[in-house]
Amino acid sequence: MIPYGRQHITSEDIEAVVAVLKSDFLTQGPKVKEFEESIAKYCDAKYAVAFSSGTAALHGAYYAAGIGKGDEVITTPLTFVATANMVVAVGAKPIFADIDSMTGNLDPKKAEGKITKKTKAIVVVDYTGLPADLEAFKKICKKRKLVFIEDAAQALGASYGKKKIGAIADMTMFSFHPVKSITTGEGGIIVTNSKKYFEKLVLFRSHGITKDKKNLLHKNREAWYHEMHDLGFNYRITDIQAALGISQMRKLDVFIEKRKAIAMRYHEALGNIKRFILPKEISGRKSSWHLYVIRIVPEEKHLRDVIFGKLHKAGIGAQVHYIPAYHHPYYESLGYKKGLCPNAEIFSETAISIPIFPSLSLAEQRKIVQHVKRVSPNI
Ligand SMILES: *Cc1c(COP(=O)(O)O)cnc(C)c1O
Repeated sequence: MIPYGRQHITSEDIEAVVAVLKSDFLTQGPKVKEFEESIAKYCDAKYAVAFSSGTAALHGAYYAAGIGKGDEVITTPLTFVATANMVVAVGAKPIFADIDSMTGNLDPKKAEGKITKKTKAIVVVDYTGLPADLEAFKKICKKRKLVFIEDAAQALGASYGKKKIGAIADMTMFSFHPVKSITTGEGGIIVTNSKKYFEKLVLFRSHGITKDKKNLLHKNREAWYHEMHDLGFNYRITDIQAALGISQMRKLDVFIEKRKAIAMRYHEALGNIKRFILPKEISGRKSSWHLYVIRIVPEEKHLRDVIFGKLHKAGIGAQVHYIPAYHHPYYESLGYKKGLCPNAEIFSETAISIPIFPSLSLAEQRKIVQHVKRVSPNI
């Protein structure tokens, strides 16, 4: 089966991991900091705090933003459930606002319309790696005094205007799951320019414990002394993973170029099929091309599952990104109803992701195109 996404690992990556296995520190060693610095530098951000997963990193960001019981967080339903789940995990309520039908990203006007006295933050997702309308959200959050958080799990390497994704929102999350821009197996990171958020993230990642002399409540103790200041977790990434991440970062721009070339070939091969809506590019924004999502025109939406089934039979691992978060039984049990975000619902019913990843060969891509065309002859 050709998967919709997969990692690209080289012999340098393997050597970097082996070197850590032979070193003194498998975790809590120097590689984590080095990895954090390489991401912060790439994004032109002041701070970066790496976590054991993107989901753990989101949990950390929501904690650092002070989101808790009684708060509302506005976000998109067209995302992986972790974006909303971690809002629930900190005791707050996800408020789903509708998407822009062209991009699949949260619509700033729809989000603004959901702001209440309880709103604490807006969390945007760069769906498929295409940056959301970050300037619009930044303005809204500044005006309404909200924390602006970006779930850029899919968008490491993307850019908005002249800026790389990472230093635009108050906090930005990247994931290093194997299907994402670079991988550490499991892993995630928050980048931020705020020292206050940085310190909270570091505390939260490691049990809420600090050894930092200037923060201790009880001064002048011995060197072993430490204090737990708040409830935290063990959300640390290992040095083994960080070493893989450092090595992968050296290839990030090449990976993105390869993804883009694949996307351009899909555009060319499928652009004249009238029942398809292909991903649009937006001037001033560079996608990381995490996913290539084709949509079937709504009048023929029944064909989506026909195409999906035929592609799977042919060994092509198509996928659907995503079921609107609030359609999942868990969210239904919390009282969310169908019909909440009509654009996201129709988008979800018509979307199909076809494979895109750096090592996808020309022959594989030709096969995918052939089958997509065969199950959907032009009319
Ligand atoms: C992958 C992903 C996550 C979760 O990241 P993990 O590293 O798998 O925990 C969250 N949000 C979005 C949009 C994602 O694509």
